Amino acid sequence: QSQERVFNFAAGPAILPEKVLRKAESEVYIWRDSGMSVMEMSHRGKEFLSIIEKAEGDLRKLLNIPSDYSVLFLQGGATTQFAAIPLNLCKPDDPVDYLVTGSWGDKAFKEAQKFCKANVIWSGKSDKYTKIPSFESLEQNPDAKYLHICANETIHGVEFKSYPTPKNKNGILVADMSSNFCSKPVDVSKFGLIYAGAQKNVGPSGVTIVIVRKDLIGNAQPITPVMLDYKTHADNNSLYNTPPCYGIYMCGLVFDHLLEQGGLEAVQKNNMKKAEILYNTIDGSGGFYRCPVEKSVRSLMNVPFTLERSDLEAEFIKEAAKEKMVQLKGHRSVGGMRASIYNAMPLAGVEKLVAFMKNFQARHA
Ligand code: PLP
Repeated sequence: QSQERVFNFAAGPAILPEKVLRKAESEVYIWRDSGMSVMEMSHRGKEFLSIIEKAEGDLRKLLNIPSDYSVLFLQGGATTQFAAIPLNLCKPDDPVDYLVTGSWGDKAFKEAQKFCKANVIWSGKSDKYTKIPSFESLEQNPDAKYLHICANETIHGVEFKSYPTPKNKNGILVADMSSNFCSKPVDVSKFGLIYAGAQKNVGPSGVTIVIVRKDLIGNAQPITPVMLDYKTHADNNSLYNTPPCYGIYMCGLVFDHLLEQGGLEAVQKNNMKKAEILYNTIDGSGGFYRCPVEKSVRSLMNVPFTLERSDLEAEFIKEAAKEKMVQLKGHRSVGGMRASIYNAMPLAGVEKLVAFMKNFQARHA
């Protein structure tokens, strides 16, 4: 960590590995022997093709993605997928099931309502989104075309630790993994579709990754814009139009870096350690700090917490920023604090935060 860099606890765009940024810096002006920057390259030239192919290959290695799944590098953010998913996976009259465990699951549901018969089969709203339901009690619609979950709710800090078995006839589970993508191993074969905006764990904003079982491609509703039809992108290896080339290059550097670290099991181990220190500090503070989320489903990525004395929150954020720990303010919809501790947040960053928290408590309790 060089002197000028802060510990950035933002929820996204978020901290990237320093090594990746340095590598990008070293070749920002001239990439290898191409004589130009990746930003200047034709997306159809052999140099960029080698970049996107390596990025896809490394992601396939990281997540052990089976060959009957397509990997698509798209634009429009995870938000665009909220519409693309129903447009591609069902007809206007088809029912689909949504589990709403936080704001993002709710947004996905509301968008889906425009394109199919979306139903919420469980909502955590009355518990202020602090829980994940028990899967046995879920009443899934057997005719639903898919079951949608948000694997990690970035704002509320609840994370699925295991996944429900879809009881619909097609057995399709769809997951928004924007904020815990590549933070731990995932059995991709359990899902029909996984999607994620890159800007938390794997790159800059502007790239959205969709991993979709190939047999689900090619049945989009007739009104589907060409750019939202997975077939368009699958048939063209994500090069139908000009893709977000530089973002894809950056994601590729991150994938390479994650593989170098030992893959997602090693990454998960690190993430568990960081989260444990932070949650232990919150829980051990005698109520000075509180995390509202049920313990068994607390996110390894986004840690929301409040101060017993809410009048001290602004002071907490100001003092932390002075010590080069920034972006700790909770989402405007829930208030309080939130520390996002994605893959790239070093252990040292979390250690510095908990030392600060203990010191702040000692001075203000
Ligand atoms: N889903 C989750 C879980 C998110 O955290 C976010 C953004 O923070 C989104 C969806 C929306 O992503 P985007 O801004 O890429 O559209």
